[in-house]
Amino acid sequence: MLDRDNDLTAWDRDHFFHPSTHMGAHARGDTPTRVMAGGEGVFITDKAGKRSLDAFAGLYCVNVGYGRTEIAEAISKQAHELAYYHAYVGHGTEASITLAQMIIERAPAHMSRVYFGLSGSDANETNIKLIWYYNNILGRPEKKKIISRWRGYHGSGVMTGSLTGLALFHAHFDLPRAPILHTEAPYYFRREDRGQTEEQFSAHCAARLEEMILAVGPDTIAAFIGEPILGTGGIVPPPAGYWAAIQAVLKKYDILLVADEVVTGFGRLGTMFGSDHYGMEPDLITIAKGLTSAYAPLSGSIVSDRMWQVLVQGSDEFGPIGHGWTYSAHPICAAAGVANLKLIDELGLVANARSTGAMFRAGLAEALAGHRNVGEVRGDGLMAAVEFVEDKDDRRFFDPARKIGPAVSAALLERGVIGRAMPQGDILGFAPPLCLTEAEAETVIAAT
Ligand code: PLP
Repeated sequence: MLDRDNDLTAWDRDHFFHPSTHMGAHARGDTPTRVMAGGEGVFITDKAGKRSLDAFAGLYCVNVGYGRTEIAEAISKQAHELAYYHAYVGHGTEASITLAQMIIERAPAHMSRVYFGLSGSDANETNIKLIWYYNNILGRPEKKKIISRWRGYHGSGVMTGSLTGLALFHAHFDLPRAPILHTEAPYYFRREDRGQTEEQFSAHCAARLEEMILAVGPDTIAAFIGEPILGTGGIVPPPAGYWAAIQAVLKKYDILLVADEVVTGFGRLGTMFGSDHYGMEPDLITIAKGLTSAYAPLSGSIVSDRMWQVLVQGSDEFGPIGHGWTYSAHPICAAAGVANLKLIDELGLVANARSTGAMFRAGLAEALAGHRNVGEVRGDGLMAAVEFVEDKDDRRFFDPARKIGPAVSAALLERGVIGRAMPQGDILGFAPPLCLTEAEAETVIAAT
């Protein structure tokens, strides 16, 4: 007789090449196969019937929560009416055109157009090409280097893996490093000079950036990319005055700013965009996850009016832009996006991220305040991190090889809550769905 559960586990080990997974350990069966089967609100259930409160919203993407029939129905309707048509040479669908309009309505005031992709990585690949194209149109072929930050995360593609400032994503892949530079992360908790105030540390980060620009030559630097709040690099909010100080340097040397809002776009920080929250004025904004709450894969590069005007000049000079994906503005994904953005408005999820986020972070900080191994509880909106240290009083850090984060997240899972061990090894991250209630926030705090 067919033993379906055992077969699934065997098929998984034998045939499924999982992302970000220790391949050998999984194939040998040393790490478990967890077959996820259903979800409702902030809860997810596996095939064995174990229910967990997902306090990381998948990969900080299921922002409206699981099981939303409004989005499922919009996807189904679109699939029945017209599952696919391309978006090349001026084609669109009601869903894709409506979604572009809805995105620009919600984006910071100076943004003008959206180019659709499928993942955060491909949207950042598009951004890199647009930045290079832009400087070619302007007759500045030398101005091509892009500055990113250590601990920044911008994807896993060939160029976007290079932008990402985490060693794991570079190691053993021979990614092209030449046009990419990394500057210091605004990581106040781990600053070297303990006497610095947040403002002083921000000024220090801006000074380091300016030193790099001057050393390499301002005429060779095209853009700076950053997440409003560092995400995968450890959920690190910018210290006070950081973005103002960085933007002053970028303006001085005519360097474009890309705000990577794959995580922060559409409400996670309690404002529609993180750029609004921290006073950033980007030339490009990367969006993905929260755009559809992961009900279908969709991303976008939002282009500022200033940049758009130059790109139009490019078409007049060079002809149609030679950059297109088959699935750009895929109708089913666009329909999911329209239904998702409507739901975010109807349920007031941006305001909820602000209020429940504040309550959640304060409660977590209070509950862990006395713990010798908790160095810092930090975050913003509905993003929070707990950083573990060997000893908080003498600020001794754990050796990442001890994998404290994975051990803590495994213990948390036993208590029915999913938190994410961030790749650094000693940080536990939370980014629950934006529909989290105060009672659910209490459950997470109590389990932690
Ligand atoms: N940018 C940021 C800030 C991200 O957090 C991520 C993914 O976590 C990406 C880009 C890449 O997105 P994707 O995994 O959809 O390619």
